[in-house]
Amino acid sequence: MIEMEKLPFTHDALAPHISKETMHYHYNKHYKAYVDNLNKLIKDTEFANMELDEIVRKSKTGPIFNNAAQAWNHVFYWKSMTPTKEFEELKQGKLYNLVIKEWKTVDKFEKEFTEKAKKLFGSGWVWLTHKDGKLSIEATHNANGPKNDPLMVCDVWEHAYYLDTQNERPKYVENFFKVVNWAFAEENL
Ligand code: MN
Repeated sequence: MIEMEKLPFTHDALAPHISKETMHYHYNKHYKAYVDNLNKLIKDTEFANMELDEIVRKSKTGPIFNNAAQAWNHVFYWKSMTPTKEFEELKQGKLYNLVIKEWKTVDKFEKEFTEKAKKLFGSGWVWLTHKDGKLSIEATHNANGPKNDPLMVCDVWEHAYYLDTQNERPKYVENFFKVVNWAFAEENL
């Protein structure tokens, strides 16, 4: 039985960048549905007593993978955002230095991240990832995770932003950057 992970902030904590209404539907409807579906699917199967990450790894494909990976990705997404840093920008430390090494400026990094989000056709996720001292931005379709180790993720399924910015995905990504949890991203390095 997989339990829903508690949100690390209140539903209105990221407003006005991510609205209370969006958080309500995203957490209580979309995320909950993935967890509920997963629990129905794994009941009385070899996956029933596994942890979520093990289910993702071992299922590989199909409805169990889709729901397990979506549940995992959402938990990582909740943790990738924070209201507590006063919307602080990335401006020092180990992660900052790696961003500068790769993109020269934080602005250029955010532009490339936004461009990848914009160009991702359909639903998916845009990740900041890490491997052997090098950062990358990876866009993945549907429930799929990145190749390298994830540091933070932006959900670019339409349900993540449609109530707030309608068809304007780049505007949502701009808002997302105002609430990114850089401390969480750095912890994952
Ligand atoms: Mn979502």
